[in-house]
Amino acid sequence: MRVANKVALVTGAASGMGAATARLLAREGAKVAVADMLEAEGQAVVAEIEKAGGTARFIHLDVAEEAQWEAAIGTVTSAWGRLDILVNNAGISGSNTNNLYDTALWDRIMAVNARGVFLGVKHAIAVMRGQGGGSIINLSSISGVVGQERIHCAYNASKAAVRLLSKSVAVQEGPARIRVNTVHPGLMPPMRTSGATADPVFRAKMLGHVPLGRSGEVDEVAYAILFLASDESSYMTGTELHVDGGYLAC
Ligand code: NAD
Repeated sequence: MRVANKVALVTGAASGMGAATARLLAREGAKVAVADMLEAEGQAVVAEIEKAGGTARFIHLDVAEEAQWEAAIGTVTSAWGRLDILVNNAGISGSNTNNLYDTALWDRIMAVNARGVFLGVKHAIAVMRGQGGGSIINLSSISGVVGQERIHCAYNASKAAVRLLSKSVAVQEGPARIRVNTVHPGLMPPMRTSGATADPVFRAKMLGHVPLGRSGEVDEVAYAILFLASDESSYMTGTELHVDGGYLAC
């Protein structure tokens, strides 16, 4: 029970790494708000958690919409009285296009992957300051550190924004005992919105740059998030955890 009695909100929790994180945090004792735009898939994650004896509820949230953030955080604090852990995990891929300079795609990726994280941080710290602290984990990527072919540069730019946004808030909110860290997954199972990065030929090429020689599993990222969410990482803020099989070490 590594996060016993804590209250968590995980965005993009209907799928992939967000769902794995929601399940793991609940298994380790947290009450978990499963926030996503995909209602049926999100409700299924809630049902799984409850079946295993945990506590969860689904919250409809488009992370790019500020009013929805206000409502989501309000729902969590009304139901459970506080917010200890925010995992800003929701995201969309930049690899599902043939036009790597599409302006509309730039706007959408930045709205979800960068603005969405900013809004989550903004509305979470308002609650966390009043309760004496909290832990925020923002999902960046190896793509937030290096450039890659066949991926719209907005994806890399949005994930790099998450890195520095997180360090900035870590510095500013340290005195309020709010910790902010980033997790950087490497080659993972494709996102729902993946294009090129779901292509087996492209994935095989990327695998050539992974010293551990395989792609990662969603639980391997969830465990890193759990560590940063728990008090085990109480002296860590503004740091970056690479869960990438060594990709960034090359
Ligand atoms: P996924 O596509 O399986 O899950 C993403 C979830 O985010 C989905 O449930 C989706 O509905 C939700 N979402 C998308 N837009 C949203 C919005 N506007 N508001 C609320 N929810 C929204 O992807 P994943 O692989 O689990 O990725 C999770 C995070 O990890 C993302 O931020 C992604 O950029 C990052 N990441 C993924 C990989 C990878 O290879 N899969 C690698 C590095 C980083």
